[in-house]
Amino acid sequence: MEDDVFYKELPKVELHAHLNGSVSVQSIEKLIQRKPELNIQQSMTAIGKGQRRTLDECFEVFKVIHKLVDSQEDILMVATDVINEFAADNVKYLELRSTPRAEKDTGLTKKNYVEAVIKAIQQCKEEGVDIDVRFLVAIDRRNGTEVAMETVKLAEEFMLSSGGLVVGIDLSGDPTVGRGRDLLPALEKARNSGLKLSLHMSEVPSQREESELLLNLPPDRIGHGTFLHPEMGGSQSLVDRVVDRNIPLEICLTSNVKGQTVSSYSQHHFKYWYQLGHPCAVCTDDKGVFCTELSQEYQLAASTFGLSRGAVWTLSERAVDCIFAGEDVKQQLKQKWTEIRPGLLKLPESKENLL
Ligand code: 5GP
Repeated sequence: MEDDVFYKELPKVELHAHLNGSVSVQSIEKLIQRKPELNIQQSMTAIGKGQRRTLDECFEVFKVIHKLVDSQEDILMVATDVINEFAADNVKYLELRSTPRAEKDTGLTKKNYVEAVIKAIQQCKEEGVDIDVRFLVAIDRRNGTEVAMETVKLAEEFMLSSGGLVVGIDLSGDPTVGRGRDLLPALEKARNSGLKLSLHMSEVPSQREESELLLNLPPDRIGHGTFLHPEMGGSQSLVDRVVDRNIPLEICLTSNVKGQTVSSYSQHHFKYWYQLGHPCAVCTDDKGVFCTELSQEYQLAASTFGLSRGAVWTLSERAVDCIFAGEDVKQQLKQKWTEIRPGLLKLPESKENLL
């Protein structure tokens, strides 16, 4: 079986996907046609092959996309497109995350925003799209204590009313802005009400103190965690705490290389954690902005770090253990993996692992 086919057909779990960063070229084109007066070109919303940007420039790209996606109708459209695109890449379980926004011009409220994402998830389900989708409500660290608290309240409301679709909170946004310390009360409240926590952490250097505070919560998963380990200026005690609590890392290879927080694929911290045998879920982060797909990220992980197909299979299967939905969903996914395996890995497991 050709490599491209193998990675495409590999069943996958996507746990770190920001909605507006995941909007594809095709959806961007539709949005540009809807809003020609904005004078936005597709090249302003994506970072192509071989291109690099500073993290600051990446955050500017999100602002352009936010101008294009500013109504309930837009959110419904992009969420539906993104879900279908992940399903076409054989992602069987997806946790989407997004920061609720209010837009005066279109009458969008934060509540409408979340409703639109939930509607997209429900509609895809009704149409029989073969993917289980959940939602994490995102806190943008830039906006401080009060907004974070409001966001958690919104998430709590929807956790109760969405039939299990809202499962957690994401902490994201420009890591050089805002203080993690200010957001602790909101994050603690979320935790106490049963929302899971996925926190961007140590994405840039010199966040040791903040990472220590956030690890005290503790989070259920870590986004990036690039600078946690000692070789990257972190510390052994941070690593020990992540390992002791078995907190999975969400690994986004292309995003980190294109955003230049990591100097090259071979230098990516995935290697450090993978060699420790620590749970790592390969993810896309922003498949639209960084022009990637989850199948491509798995392929990159394999080619960069010399993983056999058997090892890649195990990596995707173990990501199921990191999902925020309940044990029943995990079991259903494991069953799916068991059914798909013989068609994809023709050799017995022991031999496949030697390749
Ligand atoms: P949205 O929340 O609007 O659906 O998705 C875009 C937002 O996700 C960005 O404005 C930013 O807050 C967050 N985001 C996307 N990618 C990254 C990333 O790599 N790091 C961090 N810290 N935040 C990100």
